[in-house]
This record gives sequence, C-alpha cells and structure tokens, in this order.
Amino acid sequence: MRLLIAMMKHETNTFSPVPTPLGRFGRGGRGPLAGDAAIAFYRGTGTATGAYLDLAAAAGAEIVLPIAGEAPPSGPVEEAAYRHMTDTICEAIARGGFDGIMLDLHGAMVTESLEDGEGALLKRIRSIDAKTPVAVALDMHANLYDDIIRNATVVAGYRTYPHVDVYETGKLAGEILLRAMRGEVRPVMAWGNVPMLPHVMRQGTADHPNKQLQARCAAMSGDGALAASLFTGFPHADISNAGLSVVVVTDGDRSRAERLRDELLKQAWDDREAFVYQLEPLEKSVARAGALPPKQAGDGPIVLLDHYDNCASGGTMDTTVVLAEILRQGLEDVAAFAIYDPAAVQQAIAAGIGAEVTLSIGGKMAMPQIPAESPPLTVTGIVKTISNGRYRNLGPMGRGVQMDMGPSVVLDTGKVEIALISRHQEPHDLNCLLSLGIDPMQKRYVMLKSRIHWRAGLGAVAKAVVECAGVGVCTSDYSQLSFKKVRRPIFPLDLPNR
Ligand SMILES: [Zn+2]
Repeated sequence: MRLLIAMMKHETNTFSPVPTPLGRFGRGGRGPLAGDAAIAFYRGTGTATGAYLDLAAAAGAEIVLPIAGEAPPSGPVEEAAYRHMTDTICEAIARGGFDGIMLDLHGAMVTESLEDGEGALLKRIRSIDAKTPVAVALDMHANLYDDIIRNATVVAGYRTYPHVDVYETGKLAGEILLRAMRGEVRPVMAWGNVPMLPHVMRQGTADHPNKQLQARCAAMSGDGALAASLFTGFPHADISNAGLSVVVVTDGDRSRAERLRDELLKQAWDDREAFVYQLEPLEKSVARAGALPPKQAGDGPIVLLDHYDNCASGGTMDTTVVLAEILRQGLEDVAAFAIYDPAAVQQAIAAGIGAEVTLSIGGKMAMPQIPAESPPLTVTGIVKTISNGRYRNLGPMGRGVQMDMGPSVVLDTGKVEIALISRHQEPHDLNCLLSLGIDPMQKRYVMLKSRIHWRAGLGAVAKAVVECAGVGVCTSDYSQLSFKKVRRPIFPLDLPNR
C-alpha cells in the first residue's frame, strides 16, 4: 500500500495586516518541511499528520510526504506561497501510484485571489486523479465550501475548542479512508450551513451551546454516522461562506446523512443567541480584577484575557492597550504574555541580564482595517530572562510539537513581568511561560493574548478569568469589522432577534 500524506494549514483573518509568505509555514520562519524531515518532525505528535503517520505505519504502507506547512493565523496567504504548496502536492499526485491520500488541512485558508484555498486544491487534485480516495481533517474554525466536500471522500473536523482532539480527528478521517480503500464502507457526505457567525469567545466546548452541539456530533455514531462534524467557523474572514456549517458522513446512506445534518444545523440555529458575546469596558474589567479577593496558598492565577489581539486569530500581538491599563491601575504580581516586538527584544539582549532598560514596546504594526489604534508603550524594568524562545509543548494541545517564538526576553517592571517575543505564539501551553522562567502558579495575575486556547494549558488551574476588551484585528466588537463579501443577511450582523 502506498499513501500520500500532506499538510497545508492556515486560518486566514482577512482583516489582519500580518503578512503570510511561504516562510511563515514552518517553525522559525523556515518554511514548510518535506519528506523525511517532515515525517521525523510530526511522528509521535498530537497532530492529524501524526495520526496519519501512525495509521500508515500500522498498515505497513509506504509513505510519500511531499510537504507539511502550517502557519499561525494572519492575513491572506501570498499567491506564491499557495502556488508552491499546492504545486508540490499536485505534482506528487500526478506522478501516481497511490492507494490513498490523507490531507491535514485547516478549512479557512483565504489567499490573495481565492476565498477557499482548500476547495481549490481538492478540485485540482480531483482533476489530476479522479479515483484515489481522499481523507481530509479540518479545524473546527473551517468555513466550509462545496468544493471541499465535492472533491473529498471523507471530511472530519475537530470536536474540541481548545483543540485537544486534533490527533483523534486525523485518526477518524484516516481510518474511514482505509476502510473505504478495503471496500468495507462507501462514504457519502451531506453538508450545509446556516447564516450565522458564532462569536469566537462563545465557541469554547466547555460551555453551552457548543458543548451540547459537539456532544450530539459524537453521539451520532450511534445513529449511523461514520463521522459528524459541526464547524463553528471563523468569523474574522470577509468571505461569502464564513460561519457555521456541518458535514455528516454515512456508509452509503445519503438521506440519513442529510437528516443528521439538518438536525445539527437546526440545533445550532436555535441556539444562535447563546453564541453572541457581551462586551465589558476595559477600565471596568481591570478594576473588577483588581478587586478580587487576595491570593490564597495553592490558588492559581487570575487570567486577564487580552482577547482582541490573539495572534492565533490573526492578531498582530503588539497592541498595548490592555497592558497599559493594567499598569495604569497599578495591578501587582502580574506576568504578561506576550508583546511581539523583535526590535525591543534585541535592545534588551544588548543591555544584558540584570540591566535596567527603558523600552518602547509594541504598537508598531498599523491595522488599517479596524478603526482603533494602539500606540507603543514606554516601560522601564530589569532584564530578567533572555531565551532563544524554543520549547516543546507539554500538551494537551499540540503535544510534543517543537515551538519557536524566536529570541525572547522578560522585562520586570517591579509589578509586571512582560514577555517580549520575536515570533507569534499564542500561550496555549504552559511551557511558553515556564521556558522563560515564569511560573504562572506563583503569580496573582497572568495577562494572556488569547481567546479560548489558553484554557488548554492554564484553564484547569486558573482561579478566575477576566475578559479584557483591548484593541486588535480579532476584535470581539464585530461593529469594528467592515464586512463586504460575507453572504447577507447573516446573524447577528443584520438579522433580527439579537
Ligand atoms: Zn481553530
């Protein structure tokens, strides 16, 4: 047996000014991996590609891995990068001789010219090879298009947010594919969407309504579904199909797939009000955090969530408004992760550990697509840590994957320890803090630039969470986003009942 495995992943925030060249599709800005290097990198990791590699090994299959590229979310993918990755995959397929194709995609990739990067890739694969079955694993934030479903054999999406079941999703999609290759099942798919943009801050699977929706997806295996996936979608993309969608895979029973799909879509639509996010002014949030009871022995930190500037949703990670308010209100015993500012990092490194420096941090990247601005912030402190920024994820999210936030430092102002980094990294793993010498359990407050994924690392130990409305291109205030291409009307932008 011969299997082609490939990864091409990007969640595109069309409002983000952060560029997406080919180099971003690999750790440390080094671009995608391929062949043995990619296999060595992903084997044994909690990724869909890791699952595909395990399945292939268990089946005794020969593996061809032409490319594995994944980039942190940012603006539309540069045309040359998209062409390079898709050409590499398609050229390998054109050489032929495969029994199955296993793809680890995202589902919300927008390029400079395409709304649906994954659909265009799958359509091209089908035009080269009309027969070889194709499995696709997608992120829960996929914005689904007909071309994705029409040109794949089986599609499955994550059921958790934070995404801690990425491996299981790859395993499910890959196993169905192997069963189809052996003629044991004949997958058919039904997909659909409803006109709603669930708010990202309301999509976590620990909470209603997505907890119940995903539980129903899982239970559908008892109703004859090979796989049932509900995608909450990625709303920071001004494209026609942004929003919530569903795909159900059954064994040859199209009407059953359609019935189960309709049930999930109805349940989601009925719950639409619960996907709307309520905003609180920043000054009030920080004051509320300041008034919480003192830390007791054994208490975890109070998380101050700077959720408008999550780099894992396309944020520049250099807005300073929430940090400035924390400093202004005089909160003490705070760790802040992180401000992206390679120039400030170099200044701190030049000064050296133990030196006192005054730095102008953040506020360096313009955000022309949103009305708010974030100025640089001047801070004075002692350089506490200098690091190469590399660590391996403890998990559960992305377990075992080597991360690289570039040269990094911690600046201690006396009240706040500020992490400054040189590559975008959402704090979803405890090791991003521990590797810089910050133990979050010893802090009263931890400011995180994140929305939901921080829960994978710190959710179980956090004493409380206070959501802070700052500034950024993953703004939680959708009135700051000017949508032009998304299909209208769509809830909650302009449908009644909100
Ligand atoms: Zn996601």
